[in-house]
Amino acid sequence: MSGMVTASYICASILFILSLGGLSNQETSRRGNLYGMAGMALAIVATVFSGQVGGYAWIAVAVLVGGAAGWAVASRVEMTAMPQLVAIMHSFVGLAAVLVGFANYIDPAVQMTGVEKTIHEVEIYIGVLIGAVTFTGSVIAFGKLQGVIGSKPLILPGRHWLNLAIGLSCIWLGVVFVGAHEVDTGLVPLLIMTGLAFAFGVHMVMAIGGADMPVVISMLNSYSGWAAAAAGFMLSNDLLIVTGALVGSSGAILSYIMCRAMNRNFFAVIMGGFGGVGTVSAGTEDGEVQPVSAEEVAEMLTGSQNVVIVPGYGMAVAHAQHPVSEMTQALRNQGVNVRFAIHPVAGRMPGHMNVLLAEAKVPYDIVLEMDEINDDFPDTDVVLVIGANDIVNPSALEDPEGPIAGMPVLEVWNAQTTVVMKRSMATGYAGVQNPLFFKDNTRMLFGDAREMIDAVFKHI
Ligand code: NDP
Repeated sequence: MSGMVTASYICASILFILSLGGLSNQETSRRGNLYGMAGMALAIVATVFSGQVGGYAWIAVAVLVGGAAGWAVASRVEMTAMPQLVAIMHSFVGLAAVLVGFANYIDPAVQMTGVEKTIHEVEIYIGVLIGAVTFTGSVIAFGKLQGVIGSKPLILPGRHWLNLAIGLSCIWLGVVFVGAHEVDTGLVPLLIMTGLAFAFGVHMVMAIGGADMPVVISMLNSYSGWAAAAAGFMLSNDLLIVTGALVGSSGAILSYIMCRAMNRNFFAVIMGGFGGVGTVSAGTEDGEVQPVSAEEVAEMLTGSQNVVIVPGYGMAVAHAQHPVSEMTQALRNQGVNVRFAIHPVAGRMPGHMNVLLAEAKVPYDIVLEMDEINDDFPDTDVVLVIGANDIVNPSALEDPEGPIAGMPVLEVWNAQTTVVMKRSMATGYAGVQNPLFFKDNTRMLFGDAREMIDAVFKHI
């Protein structure tokens, strides 16, 4: 039996690695998902029937309740609400690590002495610590993404000192915890540390401004992996250690990539409470805008040689990707060179726009990353910005005090004409006014992105 379990664990680990490999490319991502599902199914079956666990009735009930809840939520979730779903899932991983840690510590069946006991207690302490930070951090991230909590950063006075004090207290409590001889006395520092880690998770994410949320999401993704790996150490489950390490390290790599894309310091992010200290404009108008009609936009597009489309969160909200794809095809049929420019943090999750465009069957070769296309704007006749705002905001480059200062953006204002399609003069996720709307070569097409694209398409 033990040999079968080990073989299953190795197979599941390989499937998870293949899954990550598949997910790194649009064309293989479906296969990657299937590998992941197969790996997880194998992992669950092998663990349940490994002979190391009892209480099958309880497990069956938990699988049924959890599976039904997961099915109900995931099958109904809107594509635009996917980031919130991911954030709340991360919080479950964190909470699970905390509960496993406590259960393991008070379990009378776990009898260890000497170095083995110390190592086990360090595993429990670190697992509970990471799990608690992940739990509350993810719950706050969920609130910010859902709009229940404002995207404005909440900066407490002396926040870095506060973080340092929490960090040092956790180290000291850890020493007391490992030195405790009785479970009852050890529980006190463990409980206090858990409370502090909960508070740290809240403080860390509350202090982060809207535009920096992508980095937080990928960072919490990484933390949830390390929390799972820590739970794997506590339970002596090799597969959980491997899986947690895969999620933790791929999340860390993603965080690094997102940090580079946002021009943020990776270590400042890990320590929490980075960026977002500038003043957030309430979105007051500061100039005249030039509205334009759908018919005029259609004329501009058909009269152009080079067109770049910049999709943003509004395109996802309006479900406009299919009409956008049809319009692109119609323009290409008329000989217009249409390409898409994708900002790394467009939308509300990494790769959000790529997923939508792939779903609408936009050819991959005309979908370009920001670095590949930013220099081409001066040679572009018309840029069509569809429901994007922060990612095309020139104040990121022009206002060194602003909340999005330093973030690389798509420099669409360098094109001959920029048409911005949105419903109002409202700000984007970061809550910053956008000077692009007031530039001489910018035209505003007000309305829902889907309706406007349909109207433009009709005239094309
Ligand atoms: P923004 O949120 O900056 O702007 C979206 C714009 O779309 C809004 O200004 C809104 O204006 C418009 N809009 C909304 N609904 C519609 C609709 N139905 N039709 C037309 N327009 C609509 O989006 P961006 O993609 O430009 O930037 C993403 C932001 O989200 C960045 O700040 C990024 O940091 C952050 N973020 C990104 C994550 C990621 O991983 N990609 C994760 C979390 C946050 P109006 O209301 O006037 O229509």
